[in-house]
Amino acid sequence: MDRDKIKSAVELFIEGIGEDKNREGLKGTPERIADMCEEILYGAGKDPKQELSVYFNEDHEELVLVRNISFFSMCEHHMLPFFGKANVAYIPKKGKLTGISKIARVVDISSRKLQLQERMTSEVADSIFEVLEPYGVAVVIKAQHLCMMMRGVKKEDSFVITSAIRGIFRKSASSRNEILSLLRD
Ligand SMILES: [Zn+2]
Repeated sequence: MDRDKIKSAVELFIEGIGEDKNREGLKGTPERIADMCEEILYGAGKDPKQELSVYFNEDHEELVLVRNISFFSMCEHHMLPFFGKANVAYIPKKGKLTGISKIARVVDISSRKLQLQERMTSEVADSIFEVLEPYGVAVVIKAQHLCMMMRGVKKEDSFVITSAIRGIFRKSASSRNEILSLLRD
């Protein structure tokens, strides 16, 4: 990340909205925003697939379900946070598994950048589908968007729910309905 660019952009922004960039409370703000970007946008340019190390357990071809993975992301349209929980399920093929923490890590990397909830949902599903080559993957994400809560339609209590399904969950309506009902709250 280019900290100098971030800092001069924040200074310009402060001037642009008619504030005084030299007043006490704002003096350190460009520096603080640059620090914050390194922390909350560290997923930019990273491939979540690289987080998925594979291990083998020949006998296991049953559903693996990870619920309530919390995440914080930034809406790329408004640069305001959206945040919530991701539920992820897959059925391993030929015993090809990954650690539970790796699944959470994929959600993390995919969320920590300028993002859209729809794209994030597909990205998590595709990463797992490509690396583990399982029978199927399903991802459901439920989130609140500050850009909906603070501005525009001002729907403070609204949630956005997105899902992405791959493999057998896509092919069979009954397994799709079954997995989606398991993944919904
Ligand atoms: Zn937005």
